[in-house]
Amino acid sequence: MDNNKRVALFPGSFDPFTKGHEDIVLRGLKLFDQIIIAIGYNSQKQNRYIEIDRMIGLIEKSFANEERVSVITYNELTAGLAHKTGARFLLRGLRNTTDFEFENSVSQMNRYLFKELETVFLITSPTYAAISSSIIREVHKYGADVNEFLPYEL
Ligand code: ADP
Repeated sequence: MDNNKRVALFPGSFDPFTKGHEDIVLRGLKLFDQIIIAIGYNSQKQNRYIEIDRMIGLIEKSFANEERVSVITYNELTAGLAHKTGARFLLRGLRNTTDFEFENSVSQMNRYLFKELETVFLITSPTYAAISSSIIREVHKYGADVNEFLPYEL
């Protein structure tokens, strides 16, 4: 493991991965040498809207030209995964005060669990601030075209 490398974990559900998420990754690449998109996934629960293997494939395709981005799934503490993968940073997007309230507690806990871990927050670009995976799921479920909000075609 190369300790000088700035590796960031971008954890989330990504159900589905949106242009808002893509924006955070692209901007994160200016700060970090490597970004690992880590999809929290419990194979016992199987409650995803977009099937996990399909989502992994679509994200990988979106970053096909960027070898510094990789995609993994995990079912453990995010801090533990960061430790294991050699990531000293967590990357998260902040859209609004609701995100802030939640992220504040989570990042304090993560640093308690793994002292070296710093969470880096990027404020959402205005164009993508209103995009959320849950709204996209809801709209797509009723047959509307949501491709405008995704970095690939669903
Ligand atoms: P989680 O279930 O962990 O909130 P999400 O997949 O919803 O996972 O989000 C992962 C990360 O991406 C979070 O930091 C979230 O704030 C951020 N994010 C979600 N939507 C956007 C967006 N439209 N623009 C920027 N960041 C976003």
